Amino acid sequence: MEQLIIILAVVVVVVGGGGTTLLVRTRRRVPRAPHRTEVQGGTTAAPGATGTAAPDLAKGRSAPPDLTATPAAPPAPAVEKPPPSAGRLVRLRGRLARSQSALGGVLLGLLSRDRLDEETWDEIEETLITADMGVTPARQLVEELRTDVKVAGTRDAEEVSSLLRAQLLAQVGVDLDRSLHTERRGDRPAVVLVVGVNGTGKTSVCGKLARALIGDGHSVLLGAADTFRAAAADQLQTWGERVGAEVVRSDRDGADPASVAFDAVNQGIERGVDVVIVDTAGRLHTKAGLMDELGKIKRVISRHATVDEVLLVLDATTGQNGLRQARVFAEVVDVTGIVLTKLDGTAKGGIVVAVQRELGVPVKLVGLGEGLDDLAPFEPEAFVDAIVGG
Ligand code: GDP
Repeated sequence: MEQLIIILAVVVVVVGGGGTTLLVRTRRRVPRAPHRTEVQGGTTAAPGATGTAAPDLAKGRSAPPDLTATPAAPPAPAVEKPPPSAGRLVRLRGRLARSQSALGGVLLGLLSRDRLDEETWDEIEETLITADMGVTPARQLVEELRTDVKVAGTRDAEEVSSLLRAQLLAQVGVDLDRSLHTERRGDRPAVVLVVGVNGTGKTSVCGKLARALIGDGHSVLLGAADTFRAAAADQLQTWGERVGAEVVRSDRDGADPASVAFDAVNQGIERGVDVVIVDTAGRLHTKAGLMDELGKIKRVISRHATVDEVLLVLDATTGQNGLRQARVFAEVVDVTGIVLTKLDGTAKGGIVVAVQRELGVPVKLVGLGEGLDDLAPFEPEAFVDAIVGG
């Protein structure tokens, strides 16, 4: 039971000019060593240990982190070992099918009509547009599908369904690189910046991503650079405790977000963690303000490490409004991947296609619920199967 006593380790870090006091809170005593890699909870799950061929979050990475210099950590009591991320979308398929199969049902229903006339093809196009796919991709899909059906010369339900599946896959994109770049660079951790409008699920994504990475064998540190909302750092702290990741935060609201991000990365370097995930503020005030803020965070981090991923979190239920927000973020910062949250709460999965097209950036992760493990690497095949019931 003693092990469960929460100890708050207070680390004072003075940033040049900023003078920010940061709290690094841990749930148990940290062994003092130059390369402390223990992060509570998930330690050594081997990447890809599920026996499935599906990718893990950092598909293509070569070797698990070197833990040889790590002092033996006391047994971690609190955090249940997370499952590896590989194949997660397949495991969450039921949830995906529940939200997306209505779209497939309508499309297949229209395609099975006795006569596939002009009006029916228009309805198919409309259905795709209503599912937030966007006008151009919807038109393109209908045109191609129309040709395919004609060439195949069949109206057999199974064949038509497989033609639809192929066209949906083509629109979603099977060849995009959706791997997350979370590999250490020498003695530096990988840095993931998480951006997006408040309410999209940004902080949850930081927590869930930390847990997934821990499940894949990484050690993770969270940086609470959303210093504008009073509760944001507390919320991230709670996530950190749930998933077994330490949190670097300021002790006061309104602190300079760039200072916090800088200190989080510094702490990450000193502690030898693999990945630092930085949560940022999501106020859509002015575009210039947002650009200044995110630009400064990136610049300041770049003094010590490389920002490997900028993940834009987008709420799948917000449709055109969400797309507009995404555009603003993409204009001010180089987004490397999209996290589409709340896909469990909408039948409008077409947004995957629309947002990728709009930003020219792949959807890398999808959120399918509020649970700890409800964030999954995006897999086009599993997604399209959920639509057409494959
Ligand atoms: P932030 O303001 O962007 O940091 O958003 P939060 O992380 O606080 O999330 C806002 C709300 O969305 C919370 O109630 C989350 O539980 C919920 N949420 C986040 N992701 C998902 C998801 O994938 N599915 C569902 N159903 N809810 C989600």
